[in-house]
Amino acid sequence: MGKVYLVGAGPGDPELLTLKAARLLEEADVVLHDSLVGLGVGERISASAQVIDVGKRCGRKLLTQDEINALLVTYAASHDVVVRLKGGDPSIFGRAGEELEALRKAKVEFEIVPGVTAALGAAAAAGISLTDRRLASQILFATFSRRPEANAMDWGCLSPATTLVLYMPGPEYAEVARRLAEAGLPGDLPCAIVSSASGLRQQVRWTSVGGLSTEEKLPAPALIIVGRVASQQILEINDEFWRAERSDPPPQRLSVI
Ligand code: SAH
Repeated sequence: MGKVYLVGAGPGDPELLTLKAARLLEEADVVLHDSLVGLGVGERISASAQVIDVGKRCGRKLLTQDEINALLVTYAASHDVVVRLKGGDPSIFGRAGEELEALRKAKVEFEIVPGVTAALGAAAAAGISLTDRRLASQILFATFSRRPEANAMDWGCLSPATTLVLYMPGPEYAEVARRLAEAGLPGDLPCAIVSSASGLRQQVRWTSVGGLSTEEKLPAPALIIVGRVASQQILEINDEFWRAERSDPPPQRLSVI
């Protein structure tokens, strides 16, 4: 029985692979990878390894999640080093949960090898500090869900001191802008759209919650950083900045009966 390594490939630049990830790619007997994994990273895979692309392409699923889970278990039965290579970090929006469950059930040994998640690659690309202490004290990594029950997207914890990193924003930035505005974010709150962070086609576009609706879509993979840190200048560090456009009703007084 072999071992399955859930390995983070980082945001694209092969130099952002961890030493451990690079070693495992050289030692792997089998590598099952997502389509998000960059070309340069792919070149680090041993020539003798069997390489399987289990990613999605053009919206067409090559393999279902159940099929991927089953493959991991099957390969582990006959190979020593099975690498499940995922973009960024395996535990962040990477469906690692289902794979780990399948491995646990089948009693297959596994190890998670963390990677640089896209949010961190994007912050580096934009040259911003996600927790600039003058502007932010928390970070929310979230996905943009379009399902009807999308209110499951819990914006409740957003505050003026939150940096929101929106993974998978999709092509409709106007819809994202609308949802952010509904959540009470001011129109002039800065946003940075970052596409292919750390990759050869890296692009950064500076806008705001209000301006997002008219921004042209950047090529995937892209994410949006929202918050006071998402700007090239230090903005007035004034709470009025936030309160000015917030339409929240004044806080209710508790009445004691
Ligand atoms: N596990 C990955 C995320 C997978 S979800 C991680 O930790 O980064 C895929 C989403 O991640 C994409 O839709 C995009 O929003 C974001 N993403 C991945 N790589 C990116 C990159 N190089 N630049 C910008 N966004 C990226």
